[in-house]
Amino acid sequence: MGIQVWVPRLHIPFGAVENPNHFTPMPDDLHESVDTVDVPVPGTASTCPLNWEDLEARVAGCTACPLHQGRTQTVFGVGTREAEWMVIGEAPGEQEDLQGEPFVGRAGQLLNEMIRAVGLKREAVYIANVIKCRPPKNRDPAPEEAAACEGYLKGQLALVKPKIILAVGRIAAQNLLKTATPIGKLRGQVHYYEHIPLVVTYHPAYLLRSQLEKRRAWEDLKLAMRTFRQQNS
Ligand code: URA
Repeated sequence: MGIQVWVPRLHIPFGAVENPNHFTPMPDDLHESVDTVDVPVPGTASTCPLNWEDLEARVAGCTACPLHQGRTQTVFGVGTREAEWMVIGEAPGEQEDLQGEPFVGRAGQLLNEMIRAVGLKREAVYIANVIKCRPPKNRDPAPEEAAACEGYLKGQLALVKPKIILAVGRIAAQNLLKTATPIGKLRGQVHYYEHIPLVVTYHPAYLLRSQLEKRRAWEDLKLAMRTFRQQNS
């Protein structure tokens, strides 16, 4: 009878207001596949040509930094290896270390919601982290740990060849862009990682604690969608 039900804004999921369902995937033939990439060998100045399987095996056996001592297993990456969108986070947490898959904990649920908000399913994107082993007590990875892992992410990026990168959180953004600029200043503009457009947004774990920032994160996702569409128009 005309009674309005108040829905708290914080419970509005990403994309509920403006559903971005006009996403058009690129034809397959425009998305060339690459079989092997030159990946830096940690601790040396050389590179070595690797395919997906070799790269994954390298990561699984990596002892290039002390993080390997505390891991249950490495967390390589998940999703479509020909994905047009690549989502890059920081490092595995407890659940990821146990399950061997990135973003499976509570932050992962929210990341899935963010991915849905851009009109995609989790399986349709490729998700990886800057660091492949869990840092103790989920501390920030040290620069030398990020440096030891860098070649692996570079290899994944070269194999996937995404059309857009979504960097979630400060650590991912700063490592990919080689900057110490705070995340608040990195958001809201399109950056480039080796000619691939890169948009920065907040880490879903941060958004779980600071729900009011979801509105800003939604602005970032819309920027990423516009950027993706512009490239393909
Ligand atoms: N946070 C990240 O950055 N990556 C994960 O895989 C999990 C939590």
